[in-house]
Amino acid sequence: MSQIVEVKVPDIGDFKDVAVIEVLVQPGETVRVEQSLISVESDKASMEIPSSAAGVVKEVKVNLGDKVSEGSVVLTLEAADAATGAAATAPASKPAAAGAPAPAATSTAAGSVAPSAGPRAAAAPPAAARTGPAPASYGGKADVECEMLVLGAGPGGYSAAFRSADLGMKTVLVERYASLGGVCLNVGCIPSKALLHTASVMDEVAGLPDHGISYGPPQIDLDKLRAFKDGVVKKLTGGLAGMAKMRKVEVVTGVGTFLDPHHLEVTGSDGGRKVVKFQKAIIAAGSQPISLPFLPKDERIVDSTGALLLKTIPKRMLVIGGGIIGLEMATVYSTLGTRIDVVEMLDGLMQGADRDLVKVWEKLNAPRFDRVMLKTKSVGGKATDAGIEVSFEGEKAPDGPQVYDLVLVAVGRTPNGKRIGAEKAGVAVTERGFIEVDRQMCTNVPHIRAIGDIIGQPMLAHKAVHEAHVAAEAAHGEPSFFDARQIPSVAYTDPEVAWAGKTEEECKAQGIKIGKAVFPWAASGRAIANGRDEGFTKLLFDESTHQVIGGGIVGTHAGDLISEVCLAIEMGCQPADIGKTIHPHPTLGESIGMTAELFEGVCTDLPPARKK
Ligand SMILES: Cc1cc2nc3c(=O)[nH]c(=O)nc-3n(C[C@H](O)[C@H](O)[C@H](O)COP(=O)(O)OP(=O)(O)OC[C@H]3O[C@@H](n4cnc5c(N)ncnc54)[C@H](O)[C@@H]3O)c2cc1C
Repeated sequence: MSQIVEVKVPDIGDFKDVAVIEVLVQPGETVRVEQSLISVESDKASMEIPSSAAGVVKEVKVNLGDKVSEGSVVLTLEAADAATGAAATAPASKPAAAGAPAPAATSTAAGSVAPSAGPRAAAAPPAAARTGPAPASYGGKADVECEMLVLGAGPGGYSAAFRSADLGMKTVLVERYASLGGVCLNVGCIPSKALLHTASVMDEVAGLPDHGISYGPPQIDLDKLRAFKDGVVKKLTGGLAGMAKMRKVEVVTGVGTFLDPHHLEVTGSDGGRKVVKFQKAIIAAGSQPISLPFLPKDERIVDSTGALLLKTIPKRMLVIGGGIIGLEMATVYSTLGTRIDVVEMLDGLMQGADRDLVKVWEKLNAPRFDRVMLKTKSVGGKATDAGIEVSFEGEKAPDGPQVYDLVLVAVGRTPNGKRIGAEKAGVAVTERGFIEVDRQMCTNVPHIRAIGDIIGQPMLAHKAVHEAHVAAEAAHGEPSFFDARQIPSVAYTDPEVAWAGKTEEECKAQGIKIGKAVFPWAASGRAIANGRDEGFTKLLFDESTHQVIGGGIVGTHAGDLISEVCLAIEMGCQPADIGKTIHPHPTLGESIGMTAELFEGVCTDLPPARKK
């Protein structure tokens, strides 16, 4: 039987009449005990008010700007009997002094409790509200038993397994390949960055004649370059295997398929089978590249994994898809001497980033490309002796088919949700193969969680790792939630393009009024000294709160620099917080402080603002 429960503001110490600055749930949403309901802020601190009961929200009784104190009703819940019991025992939260960690019951993406500010990422639909397929029932024996099973050893999976083990859970990690690390370490982030580093050094050296230093043309030994990249991968994946051992995480190698909600069968490459019985599970089975059905099977047509093998340096290469992965690989091959065409269905490359950032990259990179075919599709391909003949349709389609020595298909990745027997565990999988989760990474089956690429965009390693920590901690019973305000993106091209939080385009689309400041690197001493002053740093501030809600950087090392913007967004920094932080000189990082000063009208590294 269910009953209506009033959830009230608990004892929050001496704080009275604090303003509601965020409402985090809405009617119809299922909430758990200790899930954050609202954020409140006084002149000294901000904190999140957790729910004292689990159930479905009937009515939210507070609005933004309302003042609340201990005992104010936040909302009413339709609670189950068990949940109502929890209402009596749930701990009250206390506010934190400004700047100190708040002992409130909610957490950031990193799993640690943080003061609240700025807009939160939208909550995923509540998992418990969804239904899944009827689970199977396995009655056979088990070879291995554990408290926590993690399926997939990519950045999501190994992080979840290691965190689970660190929390004291007996953990089994199942991975189909002998090498741990998933896409990221083996065929993604790491090998691509090893090659991009080499390419960037080559490009830098090619610019040295302007500094009065000249070398001869580069001698490329592909075998050695490949060995360098493979060595980088081996060092990292070997390190993971060692860390698994140190934590007593049992690695079971083979393809895992669920038999029911508490059993997974693992089939090794030799056909041997093992059944793992588990109390709890985290699915981290990742994604794989999308292929184009109209292209023939031919070794000259590759996905990112094939491109990273770097078998040859082709004369002409077509990159299908103008996203980050395609453009990073285009950078590597072009620096090694390949002429590149890129074809993209949409109206711009590097979708997701603000156009002003991309424009700087486009200008500098124009010489790499023979054709950039926007609003154009590749529609057919034929393998011939001369190469792969590709035909196109659309605004920038060339007159006839074009012949390429290598075609890279980089049109996105598809989740592996439909390949793991999830239905036997009763786990719901969407038509496209994603598994939906709530903010504690729970699927519709409460003891099974999911993380990483398999739960949705953005498909990025750092998102997977943060989700992994939340999933392991929540499974251990801790009040950990995925509550990130920003997930940064970086294109490790040359120059790099990085952005975090809201983009200008998103703000426009969502009607968020912003103030913006842009600091040109042409005024940065360090960028000029580096001979690379084409970039800029941009910060976006919410007009109503004055807090930074987004930022973008284009220029060398933008991917490293964006971290400060990420932290500023999570901390809800205002311009003075950033501008009055002393940055080391001369650095590219200074440009972030100067952008904030510019917003305040106190920057002395640019000509004075014109009087209006
Ligand atoms: C070329 C390239 C470059 C990239 N660069 C970056 C970058 O710079 N930064 C960034 O953040 N992201 C980057 N990414 C994306 C990043 O690699 C992924 O977002 C990340 O690896 C996802 O982690 P995951 O743990 O969810 O899944 P994955 O890394 O895909 O790992 C899933 C693991 O599960 C295993 N598995 C799947 N099914 C089963 C099964 N049934 N049984 C056993 N094991 C199974 C797989 O073998 C795999 O090891 C890049 C991707 C590519 C392709």
